[in-house]
Amino acid sequence: MKQLRSFVAGDWVDGERTTVARDTYTNEPVAEVHVPGQGQVGEATRAVAAAQAEQQLTAYDRYRILARASELVLERAGELVDSIVTDTGFTTVDARREIDRTAQTLLLSGEEAKRLRGEVVPIDADPAAPARVAFTVRRPVGVVCAITPFNSPLNTVAHKVAPALAAGNGVVLKPALQTPLTADLLLRVLLDAGLPAGLISVLYGDGSTVGQWLLEDEVPAYYAFTGSTAVGEHIQRTIGVRRAQLELGSLASTIICHDADLKRAAQLCVNAAFRKAGQVCTSVQRLYVHESVVDDFTGALRTALDGRGVGDPRDPATFVGPLIDEQAAERVAGWVSTAAEQGAEVIVGGGRTDAVVQPTVLTNVAPDMNVMCREIFGPVVSIRPFTDVDAAIDEANDTPYGLAAGLFTADIGRALHVAGRLRVGTVHVNETSSARVDLMPFGGVKASGYGHEGPAYAIRDMTEETLLTLGP
Ligand code: NAD
Repeated sequence: MKQLRSFVAGDWVDGERTTVARDTYTNEPVAEVHVPGQGQVGEATRAVAAAQAEQQLTAYDRYRILARASELVLERAGELVDSIVTDTGFTTVDARREIDRTAQTLLLSGEEAKRLRGEVVPIDADPAAPARVAFTVRRPVGVVCAITPFNSPLNTVAHKVAPALAAGNGVVLKPALQTPLTADLLLRVLLDAGLPAGLISVLYGDGSTVGQWLLEDEVPAYYAFTGSTAVGEHIQRTIGVRRAQLELGSLASTIICHDADLKRAAQLCVNAAFRKAGQVCTSVQRLYVHESVVDDFTGALRTALDGRGVGDPRDPATFVGPLIDEQAAERVAGWVSTAAEQGAEVIVGGGRTDAVVQPTVLTNVAPDMNVMCREIFGPVVSIRPFTDVDAAIDEANDTPYGLAAGLFTADIGRALHVAGRLRVGTVHVNETSSARVDLMPFGGVKASGYGHEGPAYAIRDMTEETLLTLGP
């Protein structure tokens, strides 16, 4: 069986124990994964810190490495599609989309290496400093620890690792234990693109051991985390005054007004609710639809879903593959049947076979049902009619989370009114909550976390800004 070793101090090392990685859909064993012990984790962080302190890479070198890595990701797309499908069960279409986006993220990060700058501060505007000049410089923080989730095994990893390297940091990456094949390929891409081996370490393991040891380790100056709110809160409590970027859970809504282009909205919502089997932080989970168009919109949604394949992620006709494991599928299907017992109507889907949950549409839902008030992270969307858009906004806001929202309307005044009142990190007008391109700032408010992905924003956050004042 393929051996996947953690990468420590510039080399692949045997772990203190091993675990078997399995294909998410077929459950076949695919690799033996070496999990390091606590001593090896400490060795890894210290080695990256030493390499970072000695590194001589210029901004141009960092740009060249990341630009080359972007090219290599596209050249190796076939291999990467296979690894993403095996690790996660995502369809080949979803996997390919993630690869194209990763190439963008790497390239944008490389370009930002060339733009990282401080600012001149006119301190002579203060009478107390008449003959002085001042400016800030941005310096790397040192070691960035990236801890990533299973549901975006390449692009989210790139969103942490690439801006960190672009800023001149070293990186210790702990990918989700479900996705080691993809993390290994990304590491090899970076090394083949010319990244000095000492500047990165990749450690496989679960959160309660390797992840926890990384939080307790004194070396990382910055934690770049994407995952659940519960783990994000734990990280915040554990790392003390060290800095972090926390991209956490969500419960995204999209509002469909009476004057929306219903056909287009339905097509976009189908993709936004069901791609990656709904395992996307910005997935449309709650759809608020004006009551005068709810029947037409629901019809358009059914039409857009008609004939879409479900099951084997390697079958090109498949639109919705399995969830990450059978336990997740049981939970999702359980929430759907409980909602049905509480009075919800299952108008599409509702079934489950092993880890595969059919794309499911629910109506007649109430705000306190699990499907409406807890992050489902599965292929289930609930439709709730409204008459007054302010009531829909209040319901959409009535959650601990605040990551992203969408709104469909032809009225710019209404768009501005709604966008101004939604408490989320991003509002998209005439798009769903799940619209994203990689150059934009991306982050949440409330329990969805803080800090921004998007290379231009993350790179600045992964630096320390020092003020220099000069005078005679
Ligand atoms: P998770 O929180 O279970 O795990 C995320 C990572 O944290 C994994 O690498 C895991 O091993 C690690 N971890 C777990 N416990 C830890 C600990 N005690 N110390 C250190 N590390 C620990 O999340 P998941 O199930 O992999 O991903 C799904 C969640 O991620 C959802 O809630 C989703 O909304 C969220 N997510 C958010 C965004 C965003 O941008 N806001 C994007 C994608 C996913």
